[in-house]
Amino acid sequence: MLIDLHVHSSVSDGTTSPTRLVFDARDAGLTVIGLVDHDTFDGITEATEAGHRAGVSVLPGVEISCERDGRSVHLLGYGCDMRDPALLAELARCRAGRTGRVQAMLDKLAELGVPLTVDEVMEQVGAAPSVGRPHFADAMVAKGYVKDRTEAFENYLADDKPAYVPRYATEVSDAIRLVRGAKGLAVLAHPWGRGMDQTLTSDVIAELAEVGLEGIEVDHPDHDDQTRSLLSALGERLGLIRTGSSDHHGEGKRNHLLGANHTRPTAYREILRRLKVRGGVLPH
Ligand code: AMP
Ligand code: FE
Ligand code: FE
Ligand code: ZN
Repeated sequence: MLIDLHVHSSVSDGTTSPTRLVFDARDAGLTVIGLVDHDTFDGITEATEAGHRAGVSVLPGVEISCERDGRSVHLLGYGCDMRDPALLAELARCRAGRTGRVQAMLDKLAELGVPLTVDEVMEQVGAAPSVGRPHFADAMVAKGYVKDRTEAFENYLADDKPAYVPRYATEVSDAIRLVRGAKGLAVLAHPWGRGMDQTLTSDVIAELAEVGLEGIEVDHPDHDDQTRSLLSALGERLGLIRTGSSDHHGEGKRNHLLGANHTRPTAYREILRRLKVRGGVLPH
């Protein structure tokens, strides 16, 4: 049983359709994936149906754009009621924040001498309801400004680079309460990737556990070995479920191949057990 609980499709900033993603997962030897597109559940139905054909179980999820002290934090919500009005309203607000910053980012890119049009970005977004910086990166690649997404982030788009524009995000403890309110299970995504250990300190994670956080991603491509062992010890101390995942984005990210990290079957079974007890949504 090989389990990867954090993958993205073209419904947000992954490059493969939900159907192809599921078949790619099967080809990579996975038996379970957690589909967690940014701020949307739109890919879940398609992925679940493809899963029936491919023999891959799809745990429904979402990666919610959150913030803590003005810094970006990602929260994974598994097994939520995908019709919960409060959760849906908040996801819509996050998506609106994504759309709302497009023009400001285009203005900055033009000033930096790498102009893009709205249409060039929207061509990369396609039918996805969730617009992200990776779509800008793909438009920059298409124009020949950069060679790949990584270079676009390093030169222009990362949080500390000149084309970055902040957007609305949910305060992370509010997002945890929303996930719980929708009968879901909240797991902090890549808590100590990209310098976030300064914001999501052990004390902050302990505080989030008090408001209903139930898991942390320990094995993730953005965590080195030392980070993984420290996070694992913290998770054990706080009684959090420890997960592992690739954060796969199709062709969009280096070192994030499907199954690059796994979640242990015991951890996965505990997630399913808790969801079942509270009436959350299980793979079907
Ligand atoms: P946004 O959702 O618009 O704030 O953009 C953040 C997203 O960009 C993350 O969820 C990742 O998918 C992606 N991302 C962040 N940093 C990088 C990077 N260095 N290379 C490629 N993709 C990245
Ligand atoms: Fe992403
Ligand atoms: Fe993330
Ligand atoms: Zn992700």
